[in-house]
Amino acid sequence: MAFPSKARHPMNAAKRLGELPARKSPVPERLTDVAIARVKEMITSGKLVPGQRLPREQDLARELGLSRNSLREAVRALTLIKVLEVRQGDGTYVTSLEPRLLFDAVAFVTHLLRDHQMLEVWEVRRLLEPAATALAAARMTAADHLELADRIERFRIATTADDVMSADVEFHRFIYHCAGNSMLESVLETLSLQTLQVRAWRKATDERHRQAALAEHTQIYRAILARDPELARAASAMHVAEGESWLRDSAAPLPAVDGGTLMS
Ligand SMILES: [Zn+2]
Repeated sequence: MAFPSKARHPMNAAKRLGELPARKSPVPERLTDVAIARVKEMITSGKLVPGQRLPREQDLARELGLSRNSLREAVRALTLIKVLEVRQGDGTYVTSLEPRLLFDAVAFVTHLLRDHQMLEVWEVRRLLEPAATALAAARMTAADHLELADRIERFRIATTADDVMSADVEFHRFIYHCAGNSMLESVLETLSLQTLQVRAWRKATDERHRQAALAEHTQIYRAILARDPELARAASAMHVAEGESWLRDSAAPLPAVDGGTLMS
């Protein structure tokens, strides 16, 4: 693999950056790591900005002191995690780098979590969702209130498990959005919704569970409508705690408790 004569050796560059983990991986993989670090540096330093097209491969490889192969591998890896985007017949671009996009990669791996790790995910939701709900109570407009009411209504009239689940998810998602913090919104969506919804309403057709969740949603809604952040925070905490205790019970080695909902 040829490097331009003036190029800094990638291994030295990696040591200087301190960005490479001490692994016994084969050299080609390390070269790719260096290439990734170099492209990342260009973004963090502002040399490349969201939506910008990358220079031609051979030019960028020369500029960064990399082989074209390593650069190509880096682009492939960064494309997978939605940092870069290859447009066929056009070129490679930096994506919008919006949290929602970047958290897709996290969402993908959270699907691989086991039950005890899911409980930790749920704890994170319990910490963050009441805070997001309090922010939403302070920030929602009158139009938002109407939209939230509409989402509660959709939950109320839902009958199939799929409808109940998606109405539930949409209710919570709208509150996350109205908290007005895109990072908080993305974290909550990633950890709470995408991870858990698969098992969320497997008891969705159970009318008792749905009615309990509906009553809790209504309490959250009323607190938001009253623009009372602390009441909204408390109502949200109660609702999330209900779901968490159901998960704890169902994850225990004893026979699952026949009650409660997960994504409620
Ligand atoms: Zn719910």
